[in-house]
Amino acid sequence: MASTLKKLSVAVFVLALPWIVLYCLGLGLVSVWRAAATLWRLPRALRNTVRCPLGHPVETASFWRCQCGAAIAGYAFTRCPHCGEAAGRIDVCPTCGLSIRNPVLP
Ligand SMILES: [Zn+2]
Ligand SMILES: [Zn+2]
Repeated sequence: MASTLKKLSVAVFVLALPWIVLYCLGLGLVSVWRAAATLWRLPRALRNTVRCPLGHPVETASFWRCQCGAAIAGYAFTRCPHCGEAAGRIDVCPTCGLSIRNPVLP
């Protein structure tokens, strides 16, 4: 009886092994893809200006208002020193009023 259970558990493990390996490979590929995408976007995020959806240049180092209400001087996409939230966007392009998303975020 114990031998049958042992054989059964080995069979289940052997059948599941390829799926476990595929799952781990998938997780690894997703991680590599996300890291590459972040590295690809990073230079755009570190520029002194970003472009709004209509192409107007907007300074990233200036005065910003966080969603918590705090006024911040500095880089637009840094974490707020008051609430700790990272800005996902610049709320208003000074020329057209459109929002500009943080280029590092997916
Ligand atoms: Zn805040
Ligand atoms: Zn604009």
